[in-house]
Amino acid sequence: MKKLVADRTSLIDASGIRKVFALAAELKNPVNFSIGQPDFDVPEPLKREAIKAIEGGLNKYSQTMGEKALRDRVATQVATEFGWQDPATLVASGVSGGLLLAFMTLIDPGDEVILPDPYFVIYKHVVNLLGGKPVFVDSYPDFRLPVEKIAEAITDRTKMIILNSPCNPTGIVYSQAEIQAMAKVATEKDVLVMTDEIYEQFSYDEPAVSIAKYHEKTLLLRGFSKSYAMTGWRLAYVAAPASLKHVVEEMTKIQQYTFVCAPTPFQRAAIAAMDYDVGGLVESYVRKRDLLYDGLKDTFELAKPQGAFYAFVKAPGGSSTEFVTRAIQNNMLVIPGNVFSEKDTHFRISFATTDEKIQQGIDILHRLA
Ligand code: PMP
Repeated sequence: MKKLVADRTSLIDASGIRKVFALAAELKNPVNFSIGQPDFDVPEPLKREAIKAIEGGLNKYSQTMGEKALRDRVATQVATEFGWQDPATLVASGVSGGLLLAFMTLIDPGDEVILPDPYFVIYKHVVNLLGGKPVFVDSYPDFRLPVEKIAEAITDRTKMIILNSPCNPTGIVYSQAEIQAMAKVATEKDVLVMTDEIYEQFSYDEPAVSIAKYHEKTLLLRGFSKSYAMTGWRLAYVAAPASLKHVVEEMTKIQQYTFVCAPTPFQRAAIAAMDYDVGGLVESYVRKRDLLYDGLKDTFELAKPQGAFYAFVKAPGGSSTEFVTRAIQNNMLVIPGNVFSEKDTHFRISFATTDEKIQQGIDILHRLA
């Protein structure tokens, strides 16, 4: 029989995470530490903007690159932050959408993409899907940005370096010194940096620093999903300095034949979101971070999360897969580290849940330690 499914599908392995979600479906009222989205709802004024846009008839396709008013707001943002004049901008269907467009635009078969390990799952799998080669640079055990090791990993085939700070799954936020050191290497070696700043607002101890400030060849991706709890609205923006306009134009061309555009009414709400202060919501996450970290630090090995809403914890006994199986048997869901890493030694906790559930989770973890 002729086979239906293309060979490339075998390049993606989603089994680890699927197994957790399948088991999750069977649990009753579990402590769910597996969720990658905030536990608050979209702020009321932003909901009203979206409703107003829908009722006002903004329900058709937008321009492929996004509504002009939103792109203008994005351009003002990056001009203020990075001094980018006449930047290239594109509104995408989530950072996931932006990542796919960027990889499709940039990766030829055999191209190398440098990723600090642990990494956000999508990067590895989409690079593989396109015939690229992920080059993993180990950042264990403290998950700081391994600038020297990244410098050593750069070859003639290096297409880009991916940074994700605040980081999913480690919760680490790279310091100004780390970012500047990375920028120096990337500038000297003339390598593109793609920076995924979806958790930019969730930085608890000091503001997250963007490499876009220090390195010209930067493709910036920022999303609305996490900051405003609108993961289902599928919105993000891509921005780059004028010198990378050709890259963003090619991404726009691919968007035209794939996503077509990001959801139009939500683009209007996104303009309001960019001026909406989520400081109060982020404050409540500082408390959750402290609750979790203080509850675990004496018993478990973990780097203190500085941003996002994740902690990446060393699994007692060594095997994360085994530990996660035990956790699930105890009505708690966490994600095994091998979903985000070439190693299977840690597990990811998302503390985007109620304080009560965090406390219950800490108690279960203590029993399992
Ligand atoms: N990048 C990172 C690091 C993420 O954690 C996520 C969501 N889990 C995304 C990108 C994708 O987010 P979205 O497509 O909702 O913008």
